[in-house]
Amino acid sequence: MRFMSGHAHVPGLAPSVLDTPVCPVNSALLGALIGATVDRCYPCQTVFMHELLDDSASTARLVELACITIDRVFGGLPASALYDHEPGPASLEFRRLARAGLYDGAAVYRECALMTRIERREAAYTALDSLVSTINAA
Ligand SMILES: [Zn+2]
Repeated sequence: MRFMSGHAHVPGLAPSVLDTPVCPVNSALLGALIGATVDRCYPCQTVFMHELLDDSASTARLVELACITIDRVFGGLPASALYDHEPGPASLEFRRLARAGLYDGAAVYRECALMTRIERREAAYTALDSLVSTINAA
C-alpha cells in the first residue's frame, strides 16, 4: 500500500498478477498506479506515473499486462493496438511494444529499455488506459 496526500489506493491488481519471472518489477508501484487510475485519482496517478517512467522494466510490464488483459477479455489484440496504419487511440509507442511482445515476451522489456522517457510515457499511458478500461469492462 502506498500513500500520497494522506490517502491510499487498493492495488488495482494482485501482486501475484503484477510480478513476472522475466525480471524484477516494482509490483507495489504498478498496483498503486493501476489502483489510483481505477479510482480516478489523477494526483496520485501523476505521481506514480512519474516514478514508473524511471523504471523501464516496470513500464514494460504495464504494457505487457495491458496486452495480456486485452487478449484474455477480447480474445486477441485488435489491429489498432498493433499496427501503425490502423486508426485508433493507441499510441505508436504502445503498438511498437505490443508488436515486440507478440512472439517473444522478453522482447517487450528489451524494446522498452531502448526507448526514451518520452516514448515510454506514451506507451505507458495507452497501456494504463487500456488496462483499466478492460478491467472495468470485464
Ligand atoms: Zn490518490
